[in-house]
Amino acid sequence: MIYLDHNATTPVAAEALQEMRDVLERVWANPSSAHGPGQAARRVLADARTRIARFLGCGPTELVFTSGATEANHMAVLGACNARRRGAHCGRRRLVLSAVEHPSMMALAARVRDSGCPVDVIPVDGEGRLDLQAAHALIDTDVVLVSVMGANNETGVLMPVAELAEIAHTQGALLHVDATQVVGKSVQRFADSAADLWSVSAHKFNGPKGVGALVVRKGLDWPGLLAGNQERGRRGGTENLPGIAGFAAAAEGAALDLAADVDRMTALRERFESGLKRCSAQLNAPLTIYGCATQRLPNTSLVRFGELKAEHVLRALERTGVIAASGSACCSGRDLPSHVLLAQGESPQYARCAVRFSLGRHTTSEEIDAALLAVQRVLGSLLNTRH
Ligand code: PMP
Repeated sequence: MIYLDHNATTPVAAEALQEMRDVLERVWANPSSAHGPGQAARRVLADARTRIARFLGCGPTELVFTSGATEANHMAVLGACNARRRGAHCGRRRLVLSAVEHPSMMALAARVRDSGCPVDVIPVDGEGRLDLQAAHALIDTDVVLVSVMGANNETGVLMPVAELAEIAHTQGALLHVDATQVVGKSVQRFADSAADLWSVSAHKFNGPKGVGALVVRKGLDWPGLLAGNQERGRRGGTENLPGIAGFAAAAEGAALDLAADVDRMTALRERFESGLKRCSAQLNAPLTIYGCATQRLPNTSLVRFGELKAEHVLRALERTGVIAASGSACCSGRDLPSHVLLAQGESPQYARCAVRFSLGRHTTSEEIDAALLAVQRVLGSLLNTRH
């Protein structure tokens, strides 16, 4: 199998598995217990927190562990709804987010809107670039929180976080960045970003599923979703210690050679896209590469082969052992056109044709060449059967 769907999830790294197994077997006490085994568990938790904070570039006390990025995003947005009624941002009414946020974020925005909190949407252009002029016009002193992803999970297009932070902060609003796709695929760190809140998820960089964090900038009093005493009162519930230990091990693994991994993925993606262009020229088949005229993650290639529907291409590719995806895993199976491509002005018909190849840090050039060969065969046969 050649797995090219790393934006959906990544395989669990051996060191993460090992550390999780170790914690499950040896450190099963409750970190909140006062007795010796509980305190030993608390030390493991504190150690994992320090290691993860080092990787993300934040302080250990800025980390609030969650069940993943979906929960972290909820904590950011619902916390903002709360902040409208109390504290330093009291009286501000609106939330602003981009048109290409993760499906769970779009669904949350709809709920928030239904509950009476206005949410405005910043559009993107045909390349998926955020419209900063529109952002300027939408973000004023009535806005409590601006929320944007660091990079889009479908196109890989990077969002202008620094510029947006400048706009938000000038108006006294906070900035939340859903950094889920950025961590492990770029050298960006929380400390260097101007974000106030940052969502991350361990399973996107070879950690386990079901664990992540919201980074809350020091000094920001941010209420949690779950009442209780854990996480300094910001997230109740017994901590997922094996998951957090796996998160820490994966973070250290990702940090090891991050800059080199980014360069390698960039070169492999380039090799892949050059190969796709050659193949499309040979077969006289149209090829669109979304977002290629702007800055993208190093690992993501969202492409359309003329009018071939993604589901046909993907099924044929899988028969040859190549695993790719159409849009977000969280929307697949619903036969909806990608909301990201619709926001970029693509037609619903073409938005159903986009195929996403996302590389991992262990993807090899041999796998890329084999995937290209598979694409060539699949396109050849699908184009033949159509004529
Ligand atoms: N945000 C983005 C940008 C994502 O890509 C994902 C995962 N597809 C999520 C949020 C949700 O993350 P999790 O699976 O940890 O809830």
